[in-house]
Amino acid sequence: MSIASPFTTNADIIAHEDVRTSGTYSKRGLAIVRGAGATLWDADGTQYIDCVGGQGSANLGHGHPAVVAAIQAQAATLLHCPEIFHNDQRAAYLDELGAALPAGMGRLFLCNSGTEAVEAAIKFARLHTGRTNIVAAMRGFHGRTMGALSATYEPKYREPFEPLIPGVTHVPFNKIEALAAAVNDQTAAVLLEPVQGEGGVRPADPGYLKAAEEICCRHGALLLIDEVQTGFGRTGSLFACTQDDITPAVLILAKSIAGGVPMGAIAIHESLGGFAPASHGSTFGGNPLACAAARATLKAMIDDDLPAQAARKGAYIMAQLAARNLSKVREIRGRGLLIGIELKERVQPTLVALMERGVLALPAGPNVLRLLPPLIISDAEIDQVIAIVAEVLA
Ligand code: PMP
Repeated sequence: MSIASPFTTNADIIAHEDVRTSGTYSKRGLAIVRGAGATLWDADGTQYIDCVGGQGSANLGHGHPAVVAAIQAQAATLLHCPEIFHNDQRAAYLDELGAALPAGMGRLFLCNSGTEAVEAAIKFARLHTGRTNIVAAMRGFHGRTMGALSATYEPKYREPFEPLIPGVTHVPFNKIEALAAAVNDQTAAVLLEPVQGEGGVRPADPGYLKAAEEICCRHGALLLIDEVQTGFGRTGSLFACTQDDITPAVLILAKSIAGGVPMGAIAIHESLGGFAPASHGSTFGGNPLACAAARATLKAMIDDDLPAQAARKGAYIMAQLAARNLSKVREIRGRGLLIGIELKERVQPTLVALMERGVLALPAGPNVLRLLPPLIISDAEIDQVIAIVAEVLA
């Protein structure tokens, strides 16, 4: 049984949260209190189709029975187990994730969020290469802690916190020559997303990541692939980088890894070894609750072939919307169920109009509407989303 909140209506919850919250988030004026599958309910009982998907952490939807059962059982067994000890759930998860990862991604470090996983990747690259320079992409997003933030492009996120870590340069995404010119024998790593999520849903062109791999190889730099948003089935394969036929030095994971329980991870290619003793660490990293949730999540994703579902459903949504020639739409792009609809106007009013019609969605920059539904969204729900998006953007 959950602990009852004394606040039970949208207005009551919003008023009480707003008194003490830090102020960093701009909120939607909606108190979400319950979810099932791809449906969310606010405190006043209004129902929504979820195309926010926990900002990418709900690939498996809400209340998935296998994840719920794993969390309940593990909560009653053991929540905490720092990595000074071994643990049964962690051992099983390392085994199972290792088997699901692209070949060779053999060494895993577990943490608690995307930005932490990026930090781990940057630290590993520095240790392994003995170099400090990082090349990242314009419009890339890698998180908000000081190291990851240094690689995030958006100046309004970055500039108030300068000086950040030195040696990070940003090159135009999808421009092979610009990347080749920026990487040299002082470069520790190149950090890229297979699809730039926050930066407007911009997929890497075919061959771009392969070229990045070759450029890294030529200079002894590590290719760090940030799959925090694209990972775990979102783009039509368990990991997007397999579609680009690359072997990253480090694969960066989080968001949907544990069905919504906070978790992050990096997978390091076996040829690179791992971290030196005591060179990195985390109190909560690899905790048994997250590992149990992650095991149930990974199994459900594989058993139900969610990557294939994402590929089919995403292609359908994009084709249906494209066929309607919507007057407010400039371009529709994406991979799988990571969908960006670039508008000819600012996206904010569209987000409000969708919410009023029962669809929750995300922006990706000022004029891109981003749909990030759970991969388990039903075909009927998809048709509803298409109809409502079409009505709002016509
Ligand atoms: N990398 C990418 C590609 C992301 O999309 C995000 C979050 N949007 C992050 C890193 C940071 O993840 P977190 O919010 O869990 O720190």
